[in-house]
Amino acid sequence: MKIAIYPGSFDPVTNGHIDILKNAAGIFDKVIIAVAHNGEKKGFLTPEERVMLIEKSIVGLDNVEVDTFEGLTIEYAKKHNAQILIRGLRAVSDFEYEMQLSQTNSALCDEIKTVFLTTKPKYNFISSSNIKEILQNGGDISKFVPDAVCKYLKNKELS
Ligand code: ADP
Repeated sequence: MKIAIYPGSFDPVTNGHIDILKNAAGIFDKVIIAVAHNGEKKGFLTPEERVMLIEKSIVGLDNVEVDTFEGLTIEYAKKHNAQILIRGLRAVSDFEYEMQLSQTNSALCDEIKTVFLTTKPKYNFISSSNIKEILQNGGDISKFVPDAVCKYLKNKELS
């Protein structure tokens, strides 16, 4: 059984993340999308909100589970008997950081391999930070995030 972890902040989850996740779910037996959080660092959304929005966005993906974790990704992966870490690549600018992260994780545990996936070009430029910026400036995020995320964030802005 090939188990993959897709770790990230997902603050909030976007159509780019979901596209990566769908590709991973088609390749591996089980994918755990794992929301990383740090007790001291406050995000835009709470870990609970991020999980709730991911759950609403992955209906129908039966081999995908959602979870949260704190600490080293590699320790979380070991605990869940995962052999693969999924990361997404958008542009050359992601490459240096992602390469360093994957080599650090290999140095910590060589049995767990990082697999990089890319999205369809139409999702390539999307990032959680540009979603937050568009939202904070009153722009329309509906093309960039799943419907559940769009509705939730619009209501949150109004309240
Ligand atoms: P992190 O804070 O760990 O970078 P993110 O939630 O921003 O977490 O992203 C998680 C992973 O998904 C990263 O590997 C990131 O490069 C990838 N990713 C995010 N958005 C996209 C996208 N639009 N296309 C491809 N990969 C993406």
